[in-house]
Amino acid sequence: MQKIHSVSVRALAEFAFEKGDLIPAARAAAQMRDGVRGHQALQELLPSSWRAETPVSRDIPIDGRVLRVHGRADAVYTDRELVRVLEIKTTVRDPGGILKYDYPAHWAQGEIYAALLCMNTGAQRAEVRLTYARLDGKKREYSEDYNAWELEERLMAYARPYLAWIATVDDWKELSKPTLDELTFPFEAYRDGQREMAGAVYRAMKRHANALIEAPTGIGKTAASLFGALKALGEGHVTSIFYLTARTTGRRAAEDALALMRERGLAIRGLTITAKEKVCLLEKQDCMGCPYAAGYYDRRREALREAMHVEQLDAEAVRSLALRHELCPFELSLDISETADVVICDYNYVFDPRVRLKRYFDSKSRVGLLVDEAHNLADRARDMLSAELSGKRLAELRSLARRFEGDDSPMVKLMGELLRVLDGREAEQECASELPGEIALAAKRFAEIADELEPVEPDIVDFVYDVQWFSRIAGRFTPDAYRALMAPEDRYLSVRLWCFDPSAYIKKTLSRVGGAALFSATLAPMEYYASLLGADGEADAQLQLQSPFPRENLRVLRMPVAVGTKDRERTLGAVAQIIHAMAQARPGNYLACFPSYAYMTQAFRRYRLLWPYDEAICQESAMPEKARQAFIGRFLPAPEKSLVAFIVLGGVFAEGVDLPEDRLSGAAIVTVGIPQLSFEREALREQLDDADDGGYDAAYTYPGLRRVLQAAGRVIRTERDRGVVLLIDMRYRQEKYRALMPPHWDVRDVKKMSDLKAELGAFWKEGD
Ligand code: SF4
Repeated sequence: MQKIHSVSVRALAEFAFEKGDLIPAARAAAQMRDGVRGHQALQELLPSSWRAETPVSRDIPIDGRVLRVHGRADAVYTDRELVRVLEIKTTVRDPGGILKYDYPAHWAQGEIYAALLCMNTGAQRAEVRLTYARLDGKKREYSEDYNAWELEERLMAYARPYLAWIATVDDWKELSKPTLDELTFPFEAYRDGQREMAGAVYRAMKRHANALIEAPTGIGKTAASLFGALKALGEGHVTSIFYLTARTTGRRAAEDALALMRERGLAIRGLTITAKEKVCLLEKQDCMGCPYAAGYYDRRREALREAMHVEQLDAEAVRSLALRHELCPFELSLDISETADVVICDYNYVFDPRVRLKRYFDSKSRVGLLVDEAHNLADRARDMLSAELSGKRLAELRSLARRFEGDDSPMVKLMGELLRVLDGREAEQECASELPGEIALAAKRFAEIADELEPVEPDIVDFVYDVQWFSRIAGRFTPDAYRALMAPEDRYLSVRLWCFDPSAYIKKTLSRVGGAALFSATLAPMEYYASLLGADGEADAQLQLQSPFPRENLRVLRMPVAVGTKDRERTLGAVAQIIHAMAQARPGNYLACFPSYAYMTQAFRRYRLLWPYDEAICQESAMPEKARQAFIGRFLPAPEKSLVAFIVLGGVFAEGVDLPEDRLSGAAIVTVGIPQLSFEREALREQLDDADDGGYDAAYTYPGLRRVLQAAGRVIRTERDRGVVLLIDMRYRQEKYRALMPPHWDVRDVKKMSDLKAELGAFWKEGD
């Protein structure tokens, strides 16, 4: 049976005539929304013999392949002799300024519809009408007559190069398929749990369901999950794999796992999408005036062809390909994603409605998702689905607009209108379950009009996008998922539409893909995370894996010290003594983890005061990449003298860093990690609170303990690792914390310093 390739009329026309510059995505989206309204207005004016929104489709055999061309024409008229096709293009430009052949792809779209209809009905003549319309009713119409044979010829001329491109993609798939079938696990043996994990991932993709997997650190989650997903890819259950990770280290681990599989014969094209600001080729990112954006579509096809022959498309490879073809590397990576087998990227390309890759995630697809460090997903989704409108920022930008455009400019007036509803002089901090209607309306009006004013000042352009986003979020606002957090800011009001419950949105996103596996070392309690992450459906699976490493290699000691906010000053000396005892028990590198920068800095100073000649370093806030690397570089293998690194729980050094074997010997974790009180956390607690105190746990206990377990997870990374974890807080003895401890932990209570030293001494002696 011949393989059928599907393509939409629009995609085929754009492929044939792709040319021009990149348009900022948000502006293109705004034009599309307006487009729907503009289309409807024109369709209503047509005589009744015309049919609006008509589906058209036909299979076209060409050179041994079949191309299924399909689409929905704006309006058509057909009889036995004649076909008429109307193509409507709404625009923010003055339609009077658009010449007949300015946009060949628009003509091609009409011609393809007309060709398909002639072939379907047998009509011999056709007319294509092209109408450019603006929302205010101004329009420009063009038309062209054709013979059926002439249209067929044009259709073939558009389809042949497209099929040649598809043949290149097919050739790659044919080369890759047998290597996927023959792929074996890329290590000599599975670690305990890896086979189960790979199986769970494979089954999730085969059944198009979700798997939630808690797997201890060091188990080899990246290789196991990719192996399961690649098997599903080889059998055609998914069309490609998206590996989502929140950190650079996670990205590298996925790239390394693929490289290892390539060494064993796998032919796989893996692409890493790197954030725009990191791969930008200009010194200062300016997309509007960028030479790599100008003429992007004139040059990209050649680069895409070249990319078909590159298997490892990491940031550097994409950048050099983009440079050779003078293209924006970020946009190029998005375009390459359409043919890559594995795409490694951040969560936002799937879950953030503003930047998600619409081509895969706006409608149903068969992409397989792997979500690494899935415990981060809910908090990230909360941010992605929230929006803020700051009166103070608006006032500053209005002053800027005045300077550029004068007091009477339409933009300055529009900003003034919005500012009037953001008067904060009598406002108080408030958390409301209802949308502030007057503000939402004013934001909607601003968003609609401001775009047509076409601002050019980058800060104002950004602000317009932000208000458009605020307006979109206002449209989603429901009391069971959102709160309006209002706070005075100088004389103005700041409004945050905060999504405290993203579970329905996550679930919907997962339901559109071809199967997903969400995994992390810290997903306790599992029922809570299953419902939060939308993995609690009937077909979904949950799996909790045990640590593959000998239990006796980790010693967990619980120290009942009062470290609540009121007690910290009083017990600072005791905490420093415990950390010092840990570091003195055996030369090595150690972490001392604190819940906040303030507490960490206080403890670090006390430690330095007491032991000025000890090796101790302290994390700083907002450390650049180089400083981070230098910090991690201090963790030398098998040091002769101990090093203590004071770090913050939940920060860059407490999660996602890999310090195997003798590069890390222990971690002292001070407090149960509860996040600081905040407006948002309190709103979450209040919303979810019930008789069982569920709101408090969801807002504070679970995220706190998750940070603790992530930090503790740095200690044991391989079979040969040995190390200690000290849990310093009275609260660790409470039942709810005990219940959330990993089952493979052997936790011992230690009350006195002498007992601590004895326990540590005995532990290290056992291993010698
Ligand atoms: S190269 Fe940089 S400035 Fe140019 S379009 Fe890409 S991201 Fe924007």
